[in-house]
Amino acid sequence: MALRDCVERWFFSPTCSGCGWPGAWWCSECQRSLVRVADCHPRCVRCDGLAPKPSAVCADCVDWPAALIAARALFLYRGPVRAALHRAKYRGERRRMEELASELGRASPEILAPWRSDLTCVVPIPLHPLRRRERGFNQSAILAKAVAGQLDIPLHDQLQRTRDTASQVGRTRSQRWANVAGAFVWSGSPLHGTVLLIDDTITTGATVAAGTTALVRAGASAVVVLAFARATEQF
Ligand SMILES: [Zn+2]
Ligand SMILES: [Zn+2]
Repeated sequence: MALRDCVERWFFSPTCSGCGWPGAWWCSECQRSLVRVADCHPRCVRCDGLAPKPSAVCADCVDWPAALIAARALFLYRGPVRAALHRAKYRGERRRMEELASELGRASPEILAPWRSDLTCVVPIPLHPLRRRERGFNQSAILAKAVAGQLDIPLHDQLQRTRDTASQVGRTRSQRWANVAGAFVWSGSPLHGTVLLIDDTITTGATVAAGTTALVRAGASAVVVLAFARATEQF
């Protein structure tokens, strides 16, 4: 085998996103333990959070802006899904992020079916330029590209983060809201209709709520959120 082939095989052969086992992007064991949000019941009809009973609006999303009409996610943020996002984001594994993005892209037509015909464009939650430089990519932009391609609607990557907000990890609900309030501004052409906003993980919804406020100021009449993972306060 030529040296170049060896090197390519070494660098580009997939490993399990959950446990790191070589051979595939998910090993069969991790694949079996992925939990799709759509398989969890009951859930809040607006934010997809696990609710004690089905309700129009749960405690998680009661203080979201009215324009944020729905949030959906593919997997629960736990076990192999949590590990996968950590590997991709904190080890800068772009190729892995693209694999996760195609998975979200493939699932998006079904998840977004109720809003699909209203969506005018796809917008990713941005990283601050300093963090983007550190990581080499914005994970939400990679997810948004795959979803926009699958749904065949334009991608507009012009939401900007004006402050280098500290990480949301380890913060309480009210600290998360204060940390990102007013952190985004739209720098593109005016928006219209329902915008699809993409993030990698939704926890309290503080980040997507702050993003929604900026999109509404730019002309969007409603915002639907799609994320790769949904963390709930129960997990
Ligand atoms: Zn595995
Ligand atoms: Zn809710």
